[in-house]
Amino acid sequence: MLNKAKNLLETYFGYDQFREGQEEIIQKVSEGKDTLAIMPTGGGKSLCYQIPAMLFPGITIVISPLISLMKDQVDALEKTGIPSTYINSTLPSEEINERLSGIYNGNYKLVYIAPERLEVPSFLRLLKQIHISFLAIDEAHCISQWGHDFRPSYLQIKNLISQIQPKPVILALTATATPQVQNDICDLLHIHKEHVVMTGFERENLHFQVVKGEDRDRFLLNYIEKNSGQAGIIYAATRKEVDRIHLLLERKGVSAGKYHAGMSEAARNRQQEQFLFDNIMIMVATNAFGMGINKSNVRFVIHYHIPRNMESYYQEAGRAGRDGEESACLLLFAPQDTHIQSFLIEQSEMDDERKENEYSKLRKMIAYGHTESCLQQYILHYFGEENPPECGKCGNCTDSREQVDVTIDAQKVLSCIRRMNERFGKTMITKVLTGSADKKIKSFGFEQLTTFGILKERTQKEVSEFIDFLTAEGYLQPTDGQYPILTLTESAGNVLRGKEPVLRKEKVRISQIVEDNEL
Ligand code: ADP
Repeated sequence: MLNKAKNLLETYFGYDQFREGQEEIIQKVSEGKDTLAIMPTGGGKSLCYQIPAMLFPGITIVISPLISLMKDQVDALEKTGIPSTYINSTLPSEEINERLSGIYNGNYKLVYIAPERLEVPSFLRLLKQIHISFLAIDEAHCISQWGHDFRPSYLQIKNLISQIQPKPVILALTATATPQVQNDICDLLHIHKEHVVMTGFERENLHFQVVKGEDRDRFLLNYIEKNSGQAGIIYAATRKEVDRIHLLLERKGVSAGKYHAGMSEAARNRQQEQFLFDNIMIMVATNAFGMGINKSNVRFVIHYHIPRNMESYYQEAGRAGRDGEESACLLLFAPQDTHIQSFLIEQSEMDDERKENEYSKLRKMIAYGHTESCLQQYILHYFGEENPPECGKCGNCTDSREQVDVTIDAQKVLSCIRRMNERFGKTMITKVLTGSADKKIKSFGFEQLTTFGILKERTQKEVSEFIDFLTAEGYLQPTDGQYPILTLTESAGNVLRGKEPVLRKEKVRISQIVEDNEL
C-alpha cells in the first residue's frame, strides 16, 4: 500500500518525499483505522486524505468549513487529473443538481462539502445510495464545544457516520487541538487514542517576542521604520483601533492597508489584493483578516492587543514566515487590554460553562505575556507536546538581563496564600500582602495574619505583577471562571520548603528590545 502511495505522491503531486506524519497517517487509514491527525498549518494535511482517496475503491467525502479553499483545492486536483468536485451554498441550484447526479453516477473520487450540507435531508439520502469508502473531516476542532471555533453543524457528522453502511474509514484533521479538544474529537468520533498522530508544532523560523511596558504607537512606528520594505501584519482587537492605527501610520508616511468586517466586501478585497501583490507592505487588521490567504513572505506579525486565546494567537502569528525564512511574531502586551477580551466573553451568549472555559483560555494567553521562560516552549506545551525543548532564539531565550533571586519574595506571597487557605483571588491576596486598610480584610480577620503587610514597601501594581509572574511560571494554579482563586502547586511547595529557587529577570530595558528586533 505504501509503495502505491509513494507512487501517487510522485506522479500526481510531483513530490519525492513524504513530510513528517503523512506516511504514518496514510498507512493508518489505508489499514482501515479511524485516525486523528494534528499537524500545524502548512504541514501538508490535504495530501493525507487526497492520496488515500485514490487508493480506496469508492468515493471520499471531505467536510470543510472553508468555502474559499474548497474551490482552490478542487481546481488543483482537477488539474492533476483527479476527478473531484465541491458542493456549497455559493453554487446555483442547477449546478448543484448537476454535480449531485455526477456523484450518483460515480464521476468523482473526491467530493468536498460544507458541514451545513449534512442538514439537507435529500443530500443525506443521496449519500446513503453511493459507496463512500472514506470520510475526511478538516478543521475537526470545530466539533468540540471546548475548541475555539465550535460549529453546531459539525455535530451532524456523527449522524452521517451512523447512517452510512458499511461504515467509512474516518480521518479527522486539525492544526489546533489542545489535549481537551483532542479528547473531545476522539470521544465524539470514536477514535482510539493510539490512532492520534501529532507532528511537531514547532515553526523553526519564527522568533516570538513579548514587548511590555512600551508606548505601543512609538514602538510600532520604530519597528516598521527599521524593517521597511518588509511585509507585515498588525492585528488589533477592534475596528476602531484598526482605523486609528491605520491613520497613525498613514500620517507618518507609512503606506498601509486596512481590513475589518465594517468595510465593504469590495474594499476589503481590494486591500487584500494590494497586500498579496506587495503593492502595500503593511496590513492593519482585525482577526477577520487572514482566513484562507496564503501570502508566503510575511516577515512579521505584530499583535497590538492580546488575542482571546493561544489558538487564535498561534494561528494569526503563524501567518508569518510561510516561506520558511526567518520571521518575527510580536505581542505588544499591556495587561489592561485583557479587559477588552473579558468584556467580549461576558457579553457573548455562551452558557456559563463555556464562558468559564473561555476565561481559562484567556488566562493562559495572559500568562504567555507574563512568562519569562521560552515562548515557543510555552506554545508547544499548550498544544500538548510533552517536554518541548527551549528554542534558544525567542525574546525570552535571548534576554540577556541578569536573573535576580526572588525566592524570599516568592515565599512571602506563597505562604500568605496558604495562610488565607487558598480561597481567594489576586486582588484580595495583593491587598493582604501590601497591608491595605480595605474593610473586607478586617471582616476576614486577615490583618491578624503574620503575612499581613509583609510587602508593604511595594505598590499594589508591583505585587499584582509579581503574582502574575508566579502564576505564569506555574507556582500558582488559577481555578476556572472570571474571578479565579489562586491555589498552590507542587512546585510552590518546593519553594516554601526552600528546595527550589525562584529567579526573575530584572525590569525590562526598553531601548534594547527595538534593537533586538532587527532581523
Ligand atoms: P495544511 O492543510 O496542513 O495547512 P496543505 O495541505 O495546504 O497544508 O499543504 C501545504 C503546502 O505543502 C502545499 O503547498 C502542499 O502542496 C505542500 N506539501 C504537502 N505535502 C508535501 C510533501 N510531501 N512534499 C512537499 N510539499 C508538500
